[in-house]
Amino acid sequence: MLAQEVIRLKRDGGRLPDAAIAAFVRGLCDDSWSEGQVAALAMAILLRGMEPAETAALTHAMADSGERLHWDDLPGPVVDKHSTGGIGDKVSLVLAPVLAACGCYVPMLSGRGLGHTGGTLDKLDAIPGYCTAIPLDRLRQTVRDAGCAIVGQTGELAPADRRLYAIRDVTGTVESIPLITASILSKKLAAGPAHLVMDVKHGSGAFLPGIDDARALAGSIVAVANAAGLSCRALLTDMGMCLGSTAGNALEVGEAIDLLRGRITGGRLHEVTLALAAELLDMAGIPDGRRRAGDALASGRAAERFGRMVALLGGPADLLERPDAHLPRAPVVRPLAATAGGFVTAIDARALGLAIIRLGGGRRRAEDAVDPAVGLSGVLEVGAAVQPGTPLACLHARDEHSADAVAAELREAFRIGPDRLAPAPPVTGRIDLAQL
Ligand code: URA
Repeated sequence: MLAQEVIRLKRDGGRLPDAAIAAFVRGLCDDSWSEGQVAALAMAILLRGMEPAETAALTHAMADSGERLHWDDLPGPVVDKHSTGGIGDKVSLVLAPVLAACGCYVPMLSGRGLGHTGGTLDKLDAIPGYCTAIPLDRLRQTVRDAGCAIVGQTGELAPADRRLYAIRDVTGTVESIPLITASILSKKLAAGPAHLVMDVKHGSGAFLPGIDDARALAGSIVAVANAAGLSCRALLTDMGMCLGSTAGNALEVGEAIDLLRGRITGGRLHEVTLALAAELLDMAGIPDGRRRAGDALASGRAAERFGRMVALLGGPADLLERPDAHLPRAPVVRPLAATAGGFVTAIDARALGLAIIRLGGGRRRAEDAVDPAVGLSGVLEVGAAVQPGTPLACLHARDEHSADAVAAELREAFRIGPDRLAPAPPVTGRIDLAQL
């Protein structure tokens, strides 16, 4: 089918037959569709939508556009988690070793920061020596030996998505539920886990802030994944504030290590991690998952798995014992003082993410280098009581000038009022196949 005919069909609200979807994916891979044609179809899909069967066909065609991994030789359930991204979201760094300590195998193929949200690979790059770009045989060996490996995409997984995503990113066509579904799931189907839990975020720091959009995305992913034979559930989680008390790459690794070493107990990061672990362990047929995951953290078994993974992937063998000796630190550290008293009533989490990009901790363009040391620590949550002068957060910057440049906008990201409002719960919903 000619590209222009496929575009016209979707532009006019038609349903794309499988042959048209196959032609599109072929065109993405062999460049026979121009960037303009890809962008035009992406916009038509964004405006006209897709039926579930079309989304499924697009997902399958994209998953089959490259290599597919198989893990049949591992002696336990192979599981994965994917988050739609947020501010301070370091859950993967804790969850993967927790699941490994509970008997699962976790080949977690993660991504870099996207827009205002941070990326797990950028966080891991803050660990000196840790290698996120490894060949498949080293990935297999690490997963076998440590139970988990968090690395970048290996080989040629879903190459159609790489080109489509890059074009969507610059043509205002990211926010389409069928396209997001196909993008995320094509990579997951190609990476081959048996069970997947999605962490779909909503709130000011999420890339789809509205809870109805988040619910629709979660429903679409759960439906398409299960129809494709990948068992999948989703949790909806609140991203109306920083998750945990840090945002910024090395600072987040430090906080993940504190959680793994039992220095942080309770709180929203702990809760989201345990809730996701419980879903995956249940899907994998391991009973009493929440308690097991809590025990894995409290006993240090998850920390031991994390340490093993870091060492196998080239990082320092004593990172857990001496994180401060290895994680980079920013030269300028200054508190961001509240100017009024009361309670934190709302936080513009997106503004926190954008400030971190301005500090150099994220990217403006894909080719930008990331400063691992900068970011925020001690970030307050909604409901916290403050006096004039109380630190809302502590700012870590490369120099005084860049700290000055973001201090005012950061302060404005925290709304202070006279009434203590209860924050949204960290987990706000759950979607499984039975509910669809
Ligand atoms: N993450 C992805 O991998 N793809 C999207 O389309 C959006 C978020």
